[in-house]
Amino acid sequence: MILKLIVFAVIFYAVYRLVGGKFPKLSGKIKDHLPKSEDKKKIEEDTLIECDKCGTYVTYKESIIVKGKAYCSKECAGF
Ligand SMILES: [Zn+2]
Repeated sequence: MILKLIVFAVIFYAVYRLVGGKFPKLSGKIKDHLPKSEDKKKIEEDTLIECDKCGTYVTYKESIIVKGKAYCSKECAGF
């Protein structure tokens, strides 16, 4: 029973690695063909963007998006 489970886990891991290895290559290929908005969604987390008001660079994760414009802080966003 346990052996069966281990074998299954190994197979699952192998498939996972196979898919995991293929995926970035695939998405990289698709990226070139996608419109800019889709491209932005994929890389958003670590992408540096410039604050529309003061010009400070912040990661997309930390930025505040208001009406399609990126800001570094609430102050710059006008809150
Ligand atoms: Zn700012």
